[in-house]
Amino acid sequence: MLLPRAWVRSSVFPFHEILRGRPTVSILERLREHDKLPPVALDSLHAERLGEHLKRVARVVPFYARTLAGTTIRSAADLAAFPIIDKRTIREHFAEFRASDWRGRVLTLETGGSSGEPLRFETDPVREASQLACKWRARSWFGLHVGHRELDLWGSPIETGKLSWQRRLSGDLLGNRLLSAFAMSEEKFAVWRDEIDRHGSDFLYGYSSVLARFARYLIAERRSVPTGRLRVAIGTAEMLPPADRAVMVEAFGCPVAAEYGCRDGGLIAHECPSGGLHLMHDAIHVELLDAAGQPVKTGEEGEVCLTNLYSQAFPLIRYRLGDLAVRSPTACPCGLPHPTLARLTGRSTDTLFRDDGARVHGLALIYVLRELPGVDRFRIHQKQLGRVEVSVVPGAAWSEERVGPDLVARVHRVLGAGTRVDVSLVSDLPPLPSGKHRYVICDIGESPEQKSARS
Ligand SMILES: [Zn+2]
Repeated sequence: MLLPRAWVRSSVFPFHEILRGRPTVSILERLREHDKLPPVALDSLHAERLGEHLKRVARVVPFYARTLAGTTIRSAADLAAFPIIDKRTIREHFAEFRASDWRGRVLTLETGGSSGEPLRFETDPVREASQLACKWRARSWFGLHVGHRELDLWGSPIETGKLSWQRRLSGDLLGNRLLSAFAMSEEKFAVWRDEIDRHGSDFLYGYSSVLARFARYLIAERRSVPTGRLRVAIGTAEMLPPADRAVMVEAFGCPVAAEYGCRDGGLIAHECPSGGLHLMHDAIHVELLDAAGQPVKTGEEGEVCLTNLYSQAFPLIRYRLGDLAVRSPTACPCGLPHPTLARLTGRSTDTLFRDDGARVHGLALIYVLRELPGVDRFRIHQKQLGRVEVSVVPGAAWSEERVGPDLVARVHRVLGAGTRVDVSLVSDLPPLPSGKHRYVICDIGESPEQKSARS
């Protein structure tokens, strides 16, 4: 069932958000007003919001009340007094991050993040609403508005069998179509292409690598989308290499935009039609820090530390994401007031191979492993077809007898029962010299079909 776009925009979406207790519509209106501000005005609004947020957090979040120990927080300038935190800090002091003044609903979420350390954290409807509002604000830069139809090449809920009927129904009512992006094949790509027409999709949204592979298929099969049918293809979760971008523009007949965000942080940046990767300057505060925790100079690479200004229930200040980025020294020609990142590095997810040679997105395995009790961190390494090594940093709940077989069964579900799984317990998973904390590594360069085709 597909409803007219205008109905979705005027009635279904606002009602849906009210039912879920999310002030998305009002936040979105405010964010779109901020887009019209001059950069100086947005900067002062940002500083004011950050200052207010810090003052509240220092007062009501036990972790900060304790670590700041008597330091008075007056404004955004006092940010440096806050400790830099990471996933480990959250795991060790979980309950201490709960804001004592929050009376609203709390949602518990889990993420694999881009670093491969599973993390449980809490969020609230206001933060969730701000994330969705940030997405729609950025999409409006491409002429898209609530009600426009989204074709999602996504995966986790389908793969893990968690897509509830409520989510299916709300997706249908809102005009979203979710297709599983795992276990890609040519038959699937053909179905996706048909779905763009059947669904009347206005834009595509998915893992960058998946969109790129889909695009290459469309070009090879001469089934590219006519120019102008789609408004934009948004690639997320991974880096968007220039070569991938070029095939996507050709195959989808529309601009391509990168989205940068994470479940535990929020939407961080989104590309505009002029190619600037704009920070969501009115919703988050981003610091780029060196190894000593000091801000890097503009143009230098630093680690992204995030403060989400909308977090109510479980506020994280100066949260290290493990991603590296470079701030752009120049303003984007599009005229939006939000500062931009020149570059984002250190995010990648390798593809793995099933026992039958089919490609599987690395996240498919991450999604099913991160839910295991007793698995603090893990790394999956595939050196050859039909075999995979899983290194696990065990937590308190680890049990060789109970969790071990479950882990192997989950890998078999994703990579096929013919895959040999070698599990080893390790005390630590040091970052790799090249790619920081990669959690999926695949040494198989090309698919076996390609190899056999060449030989
Ligand atoms: Zn721009």
